Amino acid sequence: MKECLFCKIIEKKIPAKIAYEDDKVLAFHDISPQGPVHILIIPKVHIPSVNELQDSDKEIIGSLFVIASKLAKEYKVDQKGFRLVINNGLDTGQAVAHLHVHLIGGRLMQWPPG
Ligand code: 5GP
Ligand code: ZN
Repeated sequence: MKECLFCKIIEKKIPAKIAYEDDKVLAFHDISPQGPVHILIIPKVHIPSVNELQDSDKEIIGSLFVIASKLAKEYKVDQKGFRLVINNGLDTGQAVAHLHVHLIGGRLMQWPPG
């Protein structure tokens, strides 16, 4: 999508520190990390949010979680713990309308989240 920030990162029009890439998924380090590890995992296809998901997205959504699992091991947060966050819509402060999974780890976290 033309005006989408994350689509521009996928197209390499905006630089990002890439952690993982294949033909369907990109993962890159968050520009404003909320922990020692903060990676955004996104589908290369433009899906604005969880609200727009369809049956045909099952495979790509599954891939986001499998890649999150691999990255958690690679960045050594799998043993102590990490959080996967998907902000969805206004109340959560979703700032970028391209579905993304935050993988955050490397520090102690509180519950409930803010
Ligand atoms: P949201 O609030 O939509 O769930 O998360 C958007 C995330 O994208 C934020 O954590 C923010 O720091 C990150 N972000 C925004 N712009 C950029 C950018 O240009 N590059 C990178 N790597 N991350 C960004
Ligand atoms: Zn997009």
